Amino acid sequence: AAKNAGRNDYRFFENSMQENLIQKLKMERSLRTALSNEEFLLYFQPIVQLATGRVAGFEALLRWHNPHRGLIFPDKFIPLVEESGLIVPIGKWVIQAACAFARRLADMTVDQPIYVAVNVSVKQLACDDFVQVVKAALQAAVLPANRLEIEITETILMNSDCLASNIAKLKELKAIGVRIALDDFGTGYSSLTYLKQLPIDVVKIDKGFVDDLATSGNNVPLIGSIIALAHNLGLEVVAEGVETKEQCELLQIWRCDSIQGYLISRPVPEAEALRLVNKDNLA
Ligand code: C2E
Ligand code: MG
Ligand code: MG
Ligand code: MG
Repeated sequence: AAKNAGRNDYRFFENSMQENLIQKLKMERSLRTALSNEEFLLYFQPIVQLATGRVAGFEALLRWHNPHRGLIFPDKFIPLVEESGLIVPIGKWVIQAACAFARRLADMTVDQPIYVAVNVSVKQLACDDFVQVVKAALQAAVLPANRLEIEITETILMNSDCLASNIAKLKELKAIGVRIALDDFGTGYSSLTYLKQLPIDVVKIDKGFVDDLATSGNNVPLIGSIIALAHNLGLEVVAEGVETKEQCELLQIWRCDSIQGYLISRPVPEAEALRLVNKDNLA
């Protein structure tokens, strides 16, 4: 009996693996047509400067509106999009759409330079024409380069095959004024002193360190040291995933420049995002 049960388990497992594979293939097929069917959209999450309480920038976050499944979050489809190489055309669309949004923002807020940050996958960065894609998107939107920020994940950048040429591309973009941010900082292994060698302007500290703030008691939280060191290197610091007033107050004490998180707003559609730019005392 035990043997039979075992065999059944095995069959079940085999079936579910097959089921997963079918699901994955189906999803990849719908992702292939999603771009031309205009099923992608960007949500925007405000990044608020602590000194002023006003919006300093927005992070553009990709959403997939599938007619059968509804709104799908990036964790559910980005890995497949990367694996299949679809990240290249989709990522290009994200850059263009984010620049178009930044243009509309610039028209609305003439005296208030607000930037828009986009997440860039290392597969996109590794493409020969990446720098050209960014420059063309800026030109098409008639957008000053400093209104665009490129977010790149620390671990992914460090582990990339063509690290030297990836760094050279970021350097070229930084030289024309594009802001470069290191995303999810602290989740990897690279030391803070290594940051000096990277062409970056901004460090985005991962939510994990923000979560630790409340439990650090009287000790200087790790995030306090990270902020101080980043400032010594001349970098701007954004804390991600700020959910409570208490975290916000502590970040103010540790002289963090800006915060992003549910405390201020979840990522929202464009119309809602535009309503936030005239508000003060957001943090
Ligand atoms: P990320 O770049 O680190 O973006 C921050 C994520 O944290 C977003 O999730 C955001 O909604 C979420 N978040 C913000 N504030 C809070 C908070 O206070 N609490 C909690 N629990 N979460 C918060 P989202 O939109 O689901 O995106 C997940 C990840 O998908 C992003 O992480 C980014 O790595 C990736 N992603 C999103 N859009 C794109 C894109 O256009 N291209 C690429 N390559 N990756 C993207
Ligand atoms: Mg990001
Ligand atoms: Mg992040
Ligand atoms: Mg993340």
